[in-house]
Amino acid sequence: MPGDIPVDEFRAAMHRAADLVADYLEGVDRYPVLPNVRPGEIAAQLPAEPPLEAESLDTLLDDYRSLVEPNVTHWNHPGFLGYFSSSGSAPGILGETLAAGLSVNAMLWRTSPAATELEVRTCDWLRQMMDLPESFRGHINDTASISTLLALAAARHGAPGLDAGAIRRDGLSGLPQLVVYASDQAHSSVDKAAILLGLGHDNVRHVPSDPQTFRLSVQALEAAIVEDRAAGKLPLAVVATMGTTSTANLDPLPEIVRICRAEKLWLHVDAAYGGSAAIVPELRPLFEGIEAADSIVVNPHKWMFVPMDCSVLFVRDEAQLRDTFSLIPEYLRTTEPGVVNLMDYGVQLGRRFRALKLWMVIRAFGVEGLRERIRAHCAWAGEFAAWVTNDPAFEIVSTSPLATVCFRLRHPDGGEAQDRANLALMAAVNAQGPYFLTHTALNGRITLHVAIGNLRTEHQHVEGLWRALRHEAKALGES
Ligand code: PLP
Repeated sequence: MPGDIPVDEFRAAMHRAADLVADYLEGVDRYPVLPNVRPGEIAAQLPAEPPLEAESLDTLLDDYRSLVEPNVTHWNHPGFLGYFSSSGSAPGILGETLAAGLSVNAMLWRTSPAATELEVRTCDWLRQMMDLPESFRGHINDTASISTLLALAAARHGAPGLDAGAIRRDGLSGLPQLVVYASDQAHSSVDKAAILLGLGHDNVRHVPSDPQTFRLSVQALEAAIVEDRAAGKLPLAVVATMGTTSTANLDPLPEIVRICRAEKLWLHVDAAYGGSAAIVPELRPLFEGIEAADSIVVNPHKWMFVPMDCSVLFVRDEAQLRDTFSLIPEYLRTTEPGVVNLMDYGVQLGRRFRALKLWMVIRAFGVEGLRERIRAHCAWAGEFAAWVTNDPAFEIVSTSPLATVCFRLRHPDGGEAQDRANLALMAAVNAQGPYFLTHTALNGRITLHVAIGNLRTEHQHVEGLWRALRHEAKALGES
């Protein structure tokens, strides 16, 4: 009789999977953060053709254990200190697993009442945690890139002076060029959104940031707007980044709010990384002005220990987001009064039950538990920055009030020689195995980037990375 795998076999496999995951998390630091594989090596071990005959779940789990688990980059490793972390906590993993079991499609309230109502309520919890006004409504997307795309689509839909209905109907032809402003430190997702929305890549103006603080220059923003208006363009939106990708610095939000109000521009706040810190009362003042935004994105999959993927987009005017996207074919019409149908708030129809894992994470740690972890990460980053500052072999390039430090090894020749030395240092530390850091470019120069945000990272790992950096720097100096 065709159908699913017999339930007893499944149950046994799920028990084994639970052990596999728990054992993995318990011993993840026995792996190097980066797996020791060359491109193509894993594919070479996979059959080129799919199996004709059924294989047992046990065989699949054996292969998972021997081929997959050791050959991923271990984002859950406590020594993962590069990019921005994304670590899966126990409650988050439980939520993800249980959601897979339900396999609901939360496109309509009717197709999943609990998924819809949990999403609405959990986003409202997060709104309260970030101390945002009640008018904000949140929806969950996969990533910040999509959240920003949706936010800018809503901005375009409601732009003052433009006929939203006409844009929906006729597209953009015949309209002036619409311009989006962000700093030169803003994430490339802003550019991708402009490309996708037909605004044109060149109509994203990356205004300079301050070369020391890497925060958007308000004067440069004002000048760019004046210049564009004079050229007949139509300024549409500003994207302020609260926790930039390279340095985790925060754009000067109160002044950006003032400009957006005066110029009637949509303000989108990219708090994909930094937004989690807004739940910590003593860090919340850093976000002053966020309450005046039109839209805000925060990624619980970055610094709130929810496994990939989970990005919350808050909008102040939910109706505008709905008007931007709602398009209801007959087969999706339902009659329940006053319900939220999540398909109305974005491009996709079908959607995963992502709220379950966020709900479980917030409940299992409690808001205080989440705050405590984020606080510790910021404190350790401060300590790390102090170690760098006090070591004459290194220099700080940028600090942040959040948990990211940018720094580099000094070099007598500076310039490209220093760039090469820093890349060599990073490669040497990463090759050791227990720690992983990444790099970026600031003011055109290679800079090392350490971001603490992994749930399993402890103080000893931050110290260990610093020891490894000093050791490898010494070795490079002697070679
Ligand atoms: N915004 C900022 C500030 C980021 O640092 C990143 C990624 O690190 C993104 C947006 C994109 O995030 P996602 O991968 O969720 O699209």
